[in-house]
Amino acid sequence: KFTTVSARSLGRSLFSTSAVSAAAQKVKLYINGEFIDSQTDKWIEVRNPATQEVVSLVPQATPAELKYATDNAAEAFKTWKKTSVLARQRIMMDLQLLIREKQNDIAKSITLEQGKTIADARGDVFRGLQVVEHACSIPSLLMGETLPVGRDMDTYNIRQPLGVIGGIMPFNFPAMIPLWVFPLAIACGNTCVIKPSEKDPGAMMILAELAAQAGVPKGVLNVVQGSVDTVNHICDDPHIKAISFVGSDHAGKYIFARGTANGKRVQANLGAKNHGVILPDANKNYTLNQLTGAAFGAAGQRCMALSTVVLVGEAKNWLPELVERAKALKVSSGFDETADLGPMISPEATKRAEDLIQSGVDEGAQLLLDGRGIKPKGFEKGNFLGPTILAGVKPHMKCYTEEIFGPVLVVLEADTLDEAIELVNSNPYGNGTALFTNSGSAARRFQDEIDVGQVGINVPIPVPLPMFSFTGSRGSIRGDLNFYGKTGVQFYTQTKTVTALWRSEDASTSQASVNMPTIR
Ligand code: NAD
Repeated sequence: KFTTVSARSLGRSLFSTSAVSAAAQKVKLYINGEFIDSQTDKWIEVRNPATQEVVSLVPQATPAELKYATDNAAEAFKTWKKTSVLARQRIMMDLQLLIREKQNDIAKSITLEQGKTIADARGDVFRGLQVVEHACSIPSLLMGETLPVGRDMDTYNIRQPLGVIGGIMPFNFPAMIPLWVFPLAIACGNTCVIKPSEKDPGAMMILAELAAQAGVPKGVLNVVQGSVDTVNHICDDPHIKAISFVGSDHAGKYIFARGTANGKRVQANLGAKNHGVILPDANKNYTLNQLTGAAFGAAGQRCMALSTVVLVGEAKNWLPELVERAKALKVSSGFDETADLGPMISPEATKRAEDLIQSGVDEGAQLLLDGRGIKPKGFEKGNFLGPTILAGVKPHMKCYTEEIFGPVLVVLEADTLDEAIELVNSNPYGNGTALFTNSGSAARRFQDEIDVGQVGINVPIPVPLPMFSFTGSRGSIRGDLNFYGKTGVQFYTQTKTVTALWRSEDASTSQASVNMPTIR
């Protein structure tokens, strides 16, 4: 027995920031088309990172509620998989329109719960919206291949949905990353159970409301809340056929191992340490601006942040100007339209980053800019860390070997491009990298030699557009089919290959053949 409220009435209250804090103190579950009050006695606080005020309480959904979600998703799959691809395309078209109309409301929810600046939060929504726009091409994306192999034989393949897809989401892109997952998964004919981050579930709740308005039938998209218990349910429930995970190494390796041991497909995007390599022939002003934005934007809490820079040769002389640009950035609440970066997600994340800064100092790096202890006026209780630059960093130092995930730039030096490439390739992560240069041949060499899945050439955060895929590599990924783009469609579908013979004349003999069938 679950208490339900209608999706529509909840949606109204979610669309204003003040209503979120006043009315939505308890975040609901969204199961079988209804927003449900959890019966749990375990609640997790969501705090505004700029103020520490409690914004809402997230339930650790009970085992019965989690089973209710996956059972409903499995039931809905029986009819959803039979809908025409054109009907699913039309729903995607309506969904992209609704998201476009509500992008400011979603952005406000992100800034409130996650802390990033409102302009950056709008970018978070927009990059997700583009994936929905791409999913509007689902009829073309799902087309198979066909080959008439002989006079009366055809071979063709079709892509069929898998069943229920589980999504386990990180805190840092509360709109974009769920939008990498559920629109494409359901457009392919699957149903979904999404677990947003327990740190900022608000954006996903608005998206669920919009999906309902766009015509996604009940049970096709479900949202469950909680932390490890919810994750374990997704990894273990036999209805779930595939898991899309994005988050830290620790959780991702665990989920990949547990999910695949249960026979599920798992794609897991993990942590990163992205290097910007600066050649002295690069356009200095452009490069320093791009580097500053990519290192400190979103308080460094982007998996594609340029958290490490390798200054090659004379480019090392640009350091003082880099420090000046970083110093000029304004740190404040994300709702302050003049802020360049907002708070970190939690006091624990801030403390961890501060400790890693100190470890760099203790191991001999030079602290050229120290953002610790910053207290923006009016937000003294927030989890703030200002832009920080550690220079003279060596590969063995802890501030280099660990992902800091904060507004901290570590600076290394190399004498040549080859030395820089070797340094980047020796790092276990392979998420993203960027080269800044005016040399076409250097760019070409970098592109060929660098062992990183997403490469920017004079582009600081090369997150691919949705017609491509998010192709992080090596330590930044577990699994082999990437998020969105063509490989996203492959991940959410099973390829069935049909070999059909329609003989136009009777060529039968009275003799059965026991040899391996061949066509020559
Ligand atoms: P996280 O791993 O702490 O949380 C991600 C999800 O896993 C959450 O839903 C959380 O509830 C769950 N989880 C956390 N700990 C768990 C555990 N011990 N067992 C089972 N489940 C657990 O990650 P986060 O802090 O939300 O996100 C930041 C991390 O995500 C960074 O490392 C960042 O690099 C990475 N990230 C990677 C990409 C990418 O595409 N490679 C994109 C965004 C973020």
